Amino acid sequence: MNNYTKYAIATFFAIAVAIPFKLVAVIGILVVALLITTGIGVCSLRSGIFGPAVTSKKGAESVFLTFDDGPDPELTPKVLDLLKQKGITATFFCIAQQAELYPELVKRIIAEGHGLASHDLTHPWWANFRRYKQLKHDISSSVNVLEQISGGSISLYRPPVGLSNPHTHRVCRELGLTIVGWNRSARDGGNRSAVAISHLAALSMRPGDIVLMHDSAPTMYNRNLFLASLETVISRIKKERFSTESLL
Ligand SMILES: [Zn+2]
Repeated sequence: MNNYTKYAIATFFAIAVAIPFKLVAVIGILVVALLITTGIGVCSLRSGIFGPAVTSKKGAESVFLTFDDGPDPELTPKVLDLLKQKGITATFFCIAQQAELYPELVKRIIAEGHGLASHDLTHPWWANFRRYKQLKHDISSSVNVLEQISGGSISLYRPPVGLSNPHTHRVCRELGLTIVGWNRSARDGGNRSAVAISHLAALSMRPGDIVLMHDSAPTMYNRNLFLASLETVISRIKKERFSTESLL
């Protein structure tokens, strides 16, 4: 039982005690506190409310670039070309269903020294409403798919949209997976706003940061703009002489 579950049970118990005494204000405060805690827990992996998650690497000397939602047949090769040309190492959180479609890209990610991690089986908008059984099926299937393609073991998992619930943490604990979030993001909405990525360069990226980006196809801007934005991020890394590493 995690701390959140204990807290929720204690809150419901306190409400049950308060109801007979008509302590409306106390009940109201407890309900609001529980709702706020739940909301923060769902939206913020960093809060640790539902369980542990790695969101930065304090004390590390490198910047940790991460790419979500791939592999994409057009964009991932271009991202890999750019990283190779600039001598940058990153971690790719792949959607297993995409990996099954483009296994050669997964193999290339590994062959070029990048980290491979799970970004779930699919990426539905309702991902965080899944119950334990469905989550266990989907996350374990994603790990199996990626392990079969790569021939290595998968130890890191990032939930779609970075949203979690108590079941997510329980499943990952049982599967031996570390949940990974981020502490620096372009807020590019999965590349729906690729231009936002260059804002990362203006943000004070520091060693130890886990940086969220996407190698899925931009939907509103052209791919060249996305790649130019990524180059801006990389040029800042080079200018500051930061090293880069995979999260593995
Ligand atoms: Zn995603």
